[in-house]
Amino acid sequence: MSFDDVSSVWMGGEVVPWTKAKVHVSSHALHYGSGVFEGIRCYATPQGPAVFRSEDHVNRLFASARVYGIEVPYTRGELGAAICQTIAANDFASCYVRPIVFFGSSTLALNPRSCPVEVAVLAWPWNDMLGEHAGECGVRVTVSPWRKFHGAMIPTTAKACGQYLNSILAVRDAAGRGYDEALLLNADGGIAEGAGENLFVVRRGVLYTNDDRQSILMGITRDSVITIAKDIGFSVVTRDLAVEDLMNADEAFFSGTAAEITPVCEVDGAAIGSGRPGDVTRAIQRAFFEATRGSVRCYRKWLHFVDECTFAGAATAVPCI
Ligand code: PMP
Repeated sequence: MSFDDVSSVWMGGEVVPWTKAKVHVSSHALHYGSGVFEGIRCYATPQGPAVFRSEDHVNRLFASARVYGIEVPYTRGELGAAICQTIAANDFASCYVRPIVFFGSSTLALNPRSCPVEVAVLAWPWNDMLGEHAGECGVRVTVSPWRKFHGAMIPTTAKACGQYLNSILAVRDAAGRGYDEALLLNADGGIAEGAGENLFVVRRGVLYTNDDRQSILMGITRDSVITIAKDIGFSVVTRDLAVEDLMNADEAFFSGTAAEITPVCEVDGAAIGSGRPGDVTRAIQRAFFEATRGSVRCYRKWLHFVDECTFAGAATAVPCI
C-alpha cells in the first residue's frame, strides 16, 4: 500500500493537492482519537468506476458520528458527492476510499464541545490488504491475546478512530509472531472478529456468522455476503461462534471492505478443513466480485457510478432469482 499515486484530497468542502491536506498538531482527534471514519471501495466496471454500497457506508458514518455527538457539517448527499469527487480528481479506476470526520483544534480538554468538526476524504489504490495472494491462497491467523472490547466499554457498532488501538495491538502481535491476521475473542471468550474483518465459518454447506451481541462491527461486506449467499442457495445462520466452531469448520473466511472475501486456511498452525480455500468460499468470492463489477443486475443497486454520483434515484430493485 502506498500513497504515491494520490494527487488530491477532499478537505472541508474542496479538493486540495495532497501536500496541502494538513491538520494542526493541537487537533483533538490526534490526541484522543475523537473521530469516526469509513472504509469504502470503488471498483472498476465496464461503465466506469463505481462506489460499492456508498449510501450504506455514509449512513454508518453518520450513525458513528451520532454515537459520539459529532455533528457532521455536510449532508449525506454532499458526502456521497465528495467521495466521487475525490476518486475523479485522482483519476482512479478503482481504489479504497477513507472519509473521516473528526474534532479539530480548540481545546485539549477531554470534552471536545468547542472543537470544530473537520471532514476529509482520502482515496488511494489498496489491493490485497492481507497480502498479495491472500484472496487466492487464504491467510494464516492467530487467536490474539488481546480481547475485543465489550460494547459497554466502547460501542463496537460505531467505527471510531480511537477504538482501533485495540486492533493495532492485535495485528502487531500477530505479525510479530509471523501470522497474517489476528482473530480477537470477545470479553466472554467467544469469537468476535478479525482486527478489521468479520468472520464466517462453513460447516456442511451452511454459513455461520455472529452479530453485534458478540462485540463486532456490523460489516457492510458481511451484509453483502449474507444476501449473496442466500441468493445463490446457501443457508446462513447468525449465532455466537466459539473457537471450536472455527477449528471444526470445513471452511472459514473473512469479510471486509479492505480484505474483501479472504479465505482463512489456518489458525495457530492448525488447518481449517483441507487447509485450502474451499468451494463455498470460492462461490461466495466469485458472486461478490461479480456484484462489485456490476455484472449481476439485482446488485446494481449497490453501485454508485462516479460519473453520475448522487444518492437520489438509486437503481430500481430487481429481484435476484
Ligand atoms: N470489523 C472491523 C473491526 C472492521 O474494522 C471492519 C472494516 N470496516 C469490518 C469488521 C468489516 O466491515 P465492512 O465490511 O463494513 O468493511
